[in-house]
Amino acid sequence: MMRAARVSEHGGVERIEFVEVPKPVPGPGEVRVLVRASGLNHLDTWVRRGVPGHRFPLPLILGSDGAGLVDAVGDGVRRVEPGQDVVLLPGVSCGVCPACLEGLDNLCPDYSILGEARDGTCAEFVVVPEANVAPKPANLGYVEAAAVPLVFQTAWSMLIRRAELRPGETVLIHAGGSGVGSAAVQIARLFGARVIATAGTPEKCQHALDLGADHAIDYTATEDFAKDVRALVGRAGVDVVFEHVGAVTFAGSMKCLARGGRLVTCGATTGGQVEISLHQVFFKNLSILGNTMGRKADLLRILQLVEAGRLRPVLSQTLPLAALREAHTLLESRAVFGKLVVEP
Ligand SMILES: [Zn+2]
Repeated sequence: MMRAARVSEHGGVERIEFVEVPKPVPGPGEVRVLVRASGLNHLDTWVRRGVPGHRFPLPLILGSDGAGLVDAVGDGVRRVEPGQDVVLLPGVSCGVCPACLEGLDNLCPDYSILGEARDGTCAEFVVVPEANVAPKPANLGYVEAAAVPLVFQTAWSMLIRRAELRPGETVLIHAGGSGVGSAAVQIARLFGARVIATAGTPEKCQHALDLGADHAIDYTATEDFAKDVRALVGRAGVDVVFEHVGAVTFAGSMKCLARGGRLVTCGATTGGQVEISLHQVFFKNLSILGNTMGRKADLLRILQLVEAGRLRPVLSQTLPLAALREAHTLLESRAVFGKLVVEP
């Protein structure tokens, strides 16, 4: 048996149950990982609360990110062996459909995310396909490694694959202190962009500047962040807006865009219903791009860049798995800068 944090019914943090369940057994081509650290994401809180119109396969063990030690392998596994330190890649795909064969595995019709459509990492053990483990960067501990995959993979896919960010362009990154925002600030800098970040406190603004942002705007201290952005870049606007806030920021984000600008979004934490002016979209040649997760191959490259010290996970706090309810409350309060990680 093993300990796990599970959701059987959607609701508040009290719906997180700590249970003993049978230890999963790796089938052919699968790997069992002894989880040493599990990274939290906003996705976890959506899985717990439920999403109208979406059905999660409950009961479900939470957690999309993790790092640990390979504990057992199934038949036919060739690349990894017990005892190896690994990072879990959170997106599972079929590997044989046209999307997968093109390297667009996050567009696979059978795509599932750990802790979202199959059992996740908030447990002592997790079983995944062989393709879903990669060597842990040698310069990181388990806790730091567990803070990398989902947010870096998503931010990379948004900025580089979808918005096609180019050197010298200006990008506005909302909530530069969040997990995905702090990854985006670093990736945008790595690709030679000028970065304007928003954040909710003066301290978070300073953190965003320390990560490499050129400017930081405290959105709680301003009436209209779009006006502050224009004060920095002039009337021309920014080339790319990195959105994951949603209803509260969307109109301002659209206003900030330059002609030919791209808004790319991976989330709507303040609500998903927004108004769009088509006049604004066609007159200014704007693009509105959606993104969920990213390509496995990009994540492997990200892990190399992390190992080379060119990208780094930003850690907020580590808690024991038994404090997962408290961790969810912290995540929802937005009181944290960077990632929360729990240790089974
Ligand atoms: Zn596929």
